Amino acid sequence: MSNHESLLAPKERVLSTLNPDGSRRWLKPRPSPGTFRTARRIVAYLLIIVYSAMPWITINGKPAMLLDIIHRRFTFFGKTFLPTDTLLLALLLIILFITIFLVTALFGRVWCGWACPQTVYLEFLYRPIEFLLEGTPGKKKPKKFVGFRKVLRVLIYFVISLHLAQTFVAYFMGADNVAHWIWGSPAEHPAAFMVVVVLTGLMMFDFTYFREQVCCVVCPYARMQSALLDKDSLIVTYDKNRGEPRGRKTRKPMDDASGDIALPQLGDCIDCTMCVQTCPTGIDIRDGLQLECIGCAQCIDACNIVMEKIGRAPNLIKYSSERIIEGGKKHIIRPRVIIYPLILLAVSTLFVVLLRTQSGADILLIREQGSPFVVVPESQDVSNGVRMRITNRTDEQRVYNAEIVSPEGARIEGFVPLELQSSEKDSRVFRISAPFSQFKGGELIATIRVYDDSGAFESEHTFKLLGPMSLPKAKDNEP
Ligand code: SF4
Ligand code: SF4
Repeated sequence: MSNHESLLAPKERVLSTLNPDGSRRWLKPRPSPGTFRTARRIVAYLLIIVYSAMPWITINGKPAMLLDIIHRRFTFFGKTFLPTDTLLLALLLIILFITIFLVTALFGRVWCGWACPQTVYLEFLYRPIEFLLEGTPGKKKPKKFVGFRKVLRVLIYFVISLHLAQTFVAYFMGADNVAHWIWGSPAEHPAAFMVVVVLTGLMMFDFTYFREQVCCVVCPYARMQSALLDKDSLIVTYDKNRGEPRGRKTRKPMDDASGDIALPQLGDCIDCTMCVQTCPTGIDIRDGLQLECIGCAQCIDACNIVMEKIGRAPNLIKYSSERIIEGGKKHIIRPRVIIYPLILLAVSTLFVVLLRTQSGADILLIREQGSPFVVVPESQDVSNGVRMRITNRTDEQRVYNAEIVSPEGARIEGFVPLELQSSEKDSRVFRISAPFSQFKGGELIATIRVYDDSGAFESEHTFKLLGPMSLPKAKDNEP
């Protein structure tokens, strides 16, 4: 290391994926077979099926999940939320966040290690393909067709990345559209084609090059850990009381205080570094809880293999809590474990009540542009222009009509029944006329009933009609 390099070198470890000179430290985690690895593999393949199938599954004739940002319609498990459902969507987001807080407080980063698509696809799809074609770390590398194997890996990565990009787009644009684009010419849909090309490139970049940096540097969830975890959260942790002082059992005897030769009293950790070599984020769990630990439990499996080989009890590294490792008692009931579920219960109840009492249509009455009212001289009626915006919230086509309820003598003019498909919205412009004699101080409240052809929906809405304070006096007969 040159002089200025050593000056710039950090005194402490900055990132597990950086060398002291700032260059990338490439990780080649050794796979460690074991109970957790097997369980994670089963979960991962089930999740890959779920993630890929979700946009294609339909419930009530709608996609299981469709985040249609362009039309501002969000469908979850057959229920569509429209832009007017701001409160419901806000409640849904609160439920999601509180659930994340609760799960993290109880089980640490179980999402990161077991279910996050980044971990699932990298550890159980991309990396196994790399190991298969280019050799598994810790084992002999294949020496034949090295170049061909690399090219084949890139090609397979490309196919998987393309599939992932199309699946990702299907979540936002709908599976039908994506299927149509896949079989059509790119010239017919250049924008969608470019989106898929860019996303495929990003997937390739992520799973080929960037990899664990997503968890260590980019993901905001990792940065929130210190606030979300407490001493009783379940985390992957090293039992330092049992493991330390670490050292190889072959270490030479040393002189004790009396000058006699004595064997050092070592803990169960033989400092084989298998737990470090298997870690997908390159950290040493023996240094304690770290931001980069995604809770994947690979180090548990790795260490258990070692413990079995040397005839020691398993679980030197294990799922536990900081409090237990420090000698404290298990402490499940604590403030955040009570407060989060209570908030969750309250918000979920409100969400369900609002969802159940939601009406079949959204109706909005607004004053039409232009002159607020017109007086018909012959009848002395005052007429107001009104625009009615209707959103069909049902899953079926409906025809909407309107009629006047009050005041007496008022009538609707020019309203043409409005036919709307499911989730569609449109507006009608019409006029409401009422006798001037009904107006007080230039105002009159009219009540309008809106109903649909199914008979399942009807609602009443009030609208303030405007009129003159007085009518112009009829002019004397002019010659
Ligand atoms: S795998 Fe176990 S024994 Fe080996 S270094 Fe890690 S903690 Fe120590
Ligand atoms: S320290 Fe263990 S649990 Fe944490 S990321 Fe590394 S291997 Fe996974």
